[in-house]
Amino acid sequence: MTLVQTVHEQAKKTPTKTAYHFQGQDVSYEILEQSISRFAQGLVDAGIEKGDNVALLLGNTPHFIISLYAIMRIGATAVPVNPTYTKDEISYILKDGNVKGIIALDMLVPLVEVAAQLFPAIRTYIICETTTEASAQVATLSAQAQQKTKLFQAVLADVKHAAPIQQVDEQDTAVILYTSGTTGHPKGAMLTHQNLYSNARDVGQYLAMTENDRVIATLPVFHVFALTVVVNAPLMKGATVLLAPRFSPAEIFTLAKQQRATVFAGVPTMFNFLYQYESGDAKDFEHLRLAISGGASLPVALLHAFEARFNVRISEGYGLSEASPVTCFNPLDRERKAGSIGTTIPNVENKVVDEYGDELPVGEVGELIVRGPNIMKGYYNMPEETARAIRDGWLYTGDLARMDEEGYFYIVDRKKDLIIVGGFNVYPREVEEVLYTHPNIVEAAVVGFPDENFGEAVHAFIVLKEQTTSTEDIRAFCEERLVKYKVPTTIELIDELPKNSTGKILRRSFKERIQK
Ligand code: AMP
Repeated sequence: MTLVQTVHEQAKKTPTKTAYHFQGQDVSYEILEQSISRFAQGLVDAGIEKGDNVALLLGNTPHFIISLYAIMRIGATAVPVNPTYTKDEISYILKDGNVKGIIALDMLVPLVEVAAQLFPAIRTYIICETTTEASAQVATLSAQAQQKTKLFQAVLADVKHAAPIQQVDEQDTAVILYTSGTTGHPKGAMLTHQNLYSNARDVGQYLAMTENDRVIATLPVFHVFALTVVVNAPLMKGATVLLAPRFSPAEIFTLAKQQRATVFAGVPTMFNFLYQYESGDAKDFEHLRLAISGGASLPVALLHAFEARFNVRISEGYGLSEASPVTCFNPLDRERKAGSIGTTIPNVENKVVDEYGDELPVGEVGELIVRGPNIMKGYYNMPEETARAIRDGWLYTGDLARMDEEGYFYIVDRKKDLIIVGGFNVYPREVEEVLYTHPNIVEAAVVGFPDENFGEAVHAFIVLKEQTTSTEDIRAFCEERLVKYKVPTTIELIDELPKNSTGKILRRSFKERIQK
């Protein structure tokens, strides 16, 4: 089975059931299936073939669901990308990902012009109308770019027939997700049809999702947490996805109440903002049977305070892009342990190991490694990185964990240097690379520090060549080149960076310095 087949079957089984709700409108499984199959044919007509990679630069609107499933339906591969990335960040992925088509929000029309110049191999640009100005904007493109550009609605209207479901091998890549993994530059984690199908199925089963569920989708859909937990798993179970294009506490409470939401999934920062929102009322969450937290550690105090105020149970889980993503969740039929990521979901194995890969006894801290049908095929075009990440069939997560005697896991720290700001990953090296392009910066090191609202914030230590640049200048320099959440919140000018004898920067000493 594939995800595409499950939605196809669901459309036959419960054609009139609402698949998703968006801005006051309910759309049934039958209509969703029709849109997917028609849009799939539109992609074929636009020159997209089986095996091609197609980038999705979209937010939480129906365009994402339709595009994702249409791409998989024709045996192509979807590459979801954060649409608020800068031109340079997006260009890196378009190039590395060998992208042949782009489906983008209308606000990204200017990017189409740039991409059309830089990447002649891209055959089609499909612009999704989220404002009334979409077609006027497309009209401003050069003739060369316009020739390859179409509006989403026009693609749906112009096709003559629906595309059949293309036969795929379960090991074919369905989605490539860009992540920095444990080291270095962004890498494309190749998730197969089997990876995505198995994780949606197992998460759905573990969280007892049924067609009666109404799941709020406000986590950004281009991220793997949203992809599996609030899109694929609910659609597989015949549930209803409540699309919330942006996260705002007021809108979430209203949506939950009006749409009688049964499941909410968020990162800890979202739980914090919901909790801080004074007008939030427990009655709004009256129908919520489950709140899911993941992506970063949920502070235990927040978990208890949130549960007490809203009379909702929070179940924390854990995962990573390379595992499609979920490996652990707090179970519903057994004790929920605060501060724990829960127990292993079905069909997956988790193990805590020492530096030689040997399993550690209960209670000892080591690296968490994972095995199962959800583990990625590898990193796109990076066999060496793949071999480093997957050894003897086990994915090395780079996270440090321990397990208790009842099989509950606890994330203790990160072996890697990843900083998580409001659920978004910030890889220090990426920010450092940008800082190093500044003509007056000699050295830079970026670390995370605890932040009340966002979980973590980015702090940059900088060594200048000449004392002529201010911290404001450096921030402005970063703002031009990085998406907002990666821009350092605080910048500190220092004389030199502490390093070990082999020249490696001692990040831990920075953390201690910040703590002091
Ligand atoms: P991503 O690939 O973007 O999903 O990021 C995966 C990383 O997020 C993991 O390797 C962890 O470092 C972190 N993470 C995810 N869930 C949790 C959690 N519940 N507690 C602590 N860290 C988490």
